[in-house]
Amino acid sequence: MTLVDRLGRPLGSLRISVTDRCNLRCTYCMPEKEYVWLPRASLLSFEEIVALARVFAGLGVEKVRLTGGEPLQRAELPVLVEMLAGVAGIRELALTTNGVLLADRAADLHAAGLGRLTVSLDTLKADRFRALAGRDALPQVLAGIEAARSVGFVGIKIDTVVLRGDNDDEIGDLVAFGREMKAEVRFIEYMDVGGATRWSEEKVTSRAAILAAIAARFGEVKPLGGRGSAPAERWELADGTTFGIIASTTEPFCGACDRGRITADGMWLQCLYARAGLDLRGPLRDGKSGDELAALLTTAWRGRADRGAEERLHAANREVLIPVSALKKDPHLEMHTRGG
Ligand code: SAM
Ligand code: SF4
Ligand code: SF4
Repeated sequence: MTLVDRLGRPLGSLRISVTDRCNLRCTYCMPEKEYVWLPRASLLSFEEIVALARVFAGLGVEKVRLTGGEPLQRAELPVLVEMLAGVAGIRELALTTNGVLLADRAADLHAAGLGRLTVSLDTLKADRFRALAGRDALPQVLAGIEAARSVGFVGIKIDTVVLRGDNDDEIGDLVAFGREMKAEVRFIEYMDVGGATRWSEEKVTSRAAILAAIAARFGEVKPLGGRGSAPAERWELADGTTFGIIASTTEPFCGACDRGRITADGMWLQCLYARAGLDLRGPLRDGKSGDELAALLTTAWRGRADRGAEERLHAANREVLIPVSALKKDPHLEMHTRGG
């Protein structure tokens, strides 16, 4: 019997953060000067991650995405990919990366069985990349995308967070770049998640504004439909180029959300906006069996009623969600700890 939560949503996908560390400092995710990191001893080993993935797969999870922080900063990541690729029930194994280290790792990741790749890229301008990501690394990211294509990744996705006044003038250029790279660009609305301490409503470029910018440059855009539980709505231009929009801020899609997230230290969060999660590292290290862990997860998912982004939409005086002082006390509240 399918495991569903209180709103009838199945448990279908899992994002696994393999590290909370990152080699970039994107203004919308890690704008502070200093961060409190998860203690190294608390990070799950590859064996522990795979043990949890098996339990989740047994409860219906078919899609797993590795994320972070920057997942390519985790040593030996291709080894983990190979281990997860062998877990029965996982149909789709994906990775989201900022691409900085991708050129060197693409071949090993592909050989290890990674099926899908998403590279985050917010600008095609080097000076702007530095301003938005805190480091001069655009050439490395572009080389990473090229390398990924050349080792055989197909259907690469490029994720772009659109910030009004910072990169919203590049929407059309990014669509054209995606067409050239045979990669689908997905524009993400700026979200007021934990860690986005510079967020303001004025900085959000809405789905409607993104669509208008694309239509002004390329002409008619046709909705593709068939979204299911996926966060992105997809569209097509007259020449067949496709793109997506993830409108988490202005038109959230919690009603179909089948995602959970595990932090690098084993906390399971049932929503990107959740204030607290369920510790899985403790039970795992206490030697709980797969069945016992499955029972824990089942009870928790049955009780799930989260619809964080929809609740934010109706919040009065929408401002920064979590102040820096609270983030410093509990790094689990940070987007870079939860994975996007
Ligand atoms: N470091 C990797 C990367 O950037 O691709 C993986 C982790 S990152 C947290 C995952 C995704 O979250 C990225 O595509 C990033 O752009 C997105 N993200 C981070 N903060 C965001 C925010 N405030 N609003 C919308 N998307 C955000
Ligand atoms: Fe940027 Fe991803 Fe690092 Fe956040 S985790 S600062 S989005 S590269
Ligand atoms: Fe799912 Fe929470 Fe995001 Fe809504 S806000 S789509 S419930 S993770």
